[in-house]
Amino acid sequence: MATYDLGRECAVCGAIIGDMNPDGVGAECRHVYYGARKVIHNQVKERAYKYYGTKARIFMPVFIEKHKDVKFRSKFKKSFYPSVVKQWEEKGFLSKKQLEICLSWLGYKIDYNTEKELLGEVHNEEKKILKTWQPTDDERDQIVKLAETYRRNLRENDS
Ligand SMILES: [Zn+2]
Repeated sequence: MATYDLGRECAVCGAIIGDMNPDGVGAECRHVYYGARKVIHNQVKERAYKYYGTKARIFMPVFIEKHKDVKFRSKFKKSFYPSVVKQWEEKGFLSKKQLEICLSWLGYKIDYNTEKELLGEVHNEEKKILKTWQPTDDERDQIVKLAETYRRNLRENDS
């Protein structure tokens, strides 16, 4: 974890918290805190790139494998498949639109459970990226401020 001191008060709302909160945030604020952590993580371009690339990294090998022996009839598919594979293998990057197309094709090639499993992998990987990220002290301050805002908004919506 990062190098800040952990008080016994929740970093977001100031409530007294126990030792079971190693990140210095109480259970009630955990949700807003991790939401804010994700936003601050992804405000740096390279980090956002890694985070949002997770889905492509997990789905593309499956997409490529499932279509490698397909004889495409449509002209579009015939040219799209090799070009998107080439781009993926050489650059490791797809546009949002390209990925959308790949996923829509893949929808016909894998069953519901496989898709669910792959999405679970994406989710775990994203969680891992956020969990292993160590914010600087300044970033930690930004996370706390943003989490406080989220919390205030939640309260206002409640009342
Ligand atoms: Zn709190």
